[in-house]
Amino acid sequence: MILHAHLDKNKEGHLTIGGMDAVELAREFGTPAYIIDEDVIRQNCRTYLTAARKHFGADALPLYASKALSFTGVYKIVAEEGLGIDCVSGGELYTAQNAGFPAERIYFHGNNKTDADLCQALDMGVGTIVVDGDEELESLDALARARGKVQKILLRITPGIDPHTHRAIVTGNVDSKFGNAIATGQALAITQKALACKGIRLAGFHCHIGSQIFEIDPFRDAAGIMLRFIADVKGATGFEAKELNLGGGLGVRYTEDDRGIDYADAIRQIAEIVQNGAAQYGVAMPRVILEPGRSLVAAAGVTLYTVGSVKEIPGFRNYVSIDGGMPDNPRYALYQSQYTVLIADRAGAPKDYRATVAGRCCESGDLIGENMPIQKPQRGDILAVLCTGAYNYSMASNYNRIPRPPIVMVHEGKARVAVRRETYADLVRCDLIEK
Ligand SMILES: *Cc1c(COP(=O)(O)O)cnc(C)c1O
Repeated sequence: MILHAHLDKNKEGHLTIGGMDAVELAREFGTPAYIIDEDVIRQNCRTYLTAARKHFGADALPLYASKALSFTGVYKIVAEEGLGIDCVSGGELYTAQNAGFPAERIYFHGNNKTDADLCQALDMGVGTIVVDGDEELESLDALARARGKVQKILLRITPGIDPHTHRAIVTGNVDSKFGNAIATGQALAITQKALACKGIRLAGFHCHIGSQIFEIDPFRDAAGIMLRFIADVKGATGFEAKELNLGGGLGVRYTEDDRGIDYADAIRQIAEIVQNGAAQYGVAMPRVILEPGRSLVAAAGVTLYTVGSVKEIPGFRNYVSIDGGMPDNPRYALYQSQYTVLIADRAGAPKDYRATVAGRCCESGDLIGENMPIQKPQRGDILAVLCTGAYNYSMASNYNRIPRPPIVMVHEGKARVAVRRETYADLVRCDLIEK
């Protein structure tokens, strides 16, 4: 095992992904390429679904927060596994629809949905819209009534939790572009407003406190605060929430320094708080929804690159340049995210070298990581970056007019292209030439 259970080395000393030789995958599909182990995603879906039903009850539903990795094939897998999904844009809704994803199991998020987004969601029959603020509530109510519909919604609430994580991905604080704070009275006010809307059926509340969180305490705190809010709303309005969506955010292991999380056990602990809270505050146990994104798909992904140059600057450091970089993985440039790297050709050899892995963009910040332990690389080696299934492909760009890599899915010892490599023709597809 190398970092995650589906990664290992074979007798040639090559990295294997789901039992398949990474060096051969690179030869067959070219580099850079995202390799995604489908079986890992399916297994994670089953872990969440089984634990959620066991601890919260048979009507509990985990949703896959699809912004983590969005393409048609992944929605098909998640639909087959029986989960719902989160979408945060018209483009994600469109992709889910392209996959035939059941619309009633879609939750539609976003802090600034346009009227066009809301119409798209209403017209495709999206099951639940998670309303973020007053203007959206008014617009949605009018658009639903104009269609003779009553749309089911949740209201996004900010419980005011600091999950001790990176500030840029903290969203549960009161000072947030997302949601309605309990502390300021805005959460209760929008609840009263929603209850008066004829085009809307309020089912309950949603919160999402942040991402890459390893402690269970912030989730337990959030669940407790939300239960108390449900009780306060019941006292003030008579409305008792039927659904409580506790968001996503459980962390994944990017490096050996990150500890793993037992997701089933985390769900058990959160369920205890919800059950105790419901009893303590005298409200009915709501239907519980969870929204894991990263923890369903991150570990399933490995990006393969080819090493182009190794530049050793005496007294400074070693730059190892690869044939990808920030266009396919902007996370180091955005938040100094840490990764594990290795040379796939010599996965069993000791990591006795330090590499600053650089991409090929005209941008000094185009790095995958700095001074990372690795086997000594040379031109032509296959360099693997582990745990890239989440927020890599979905954040990719065409900066420097670099085509996006393909997604190759590995499943039961076979590999297939699920998203083909972009071509130069794709890059000019939208360019209009004036005649
Ligand atoms: C991003 C997001 C998630 C998923 O977060 P992860 O950290 O990837 O699990 C869940 N819910 C909402 C509303 C989100 O914005």
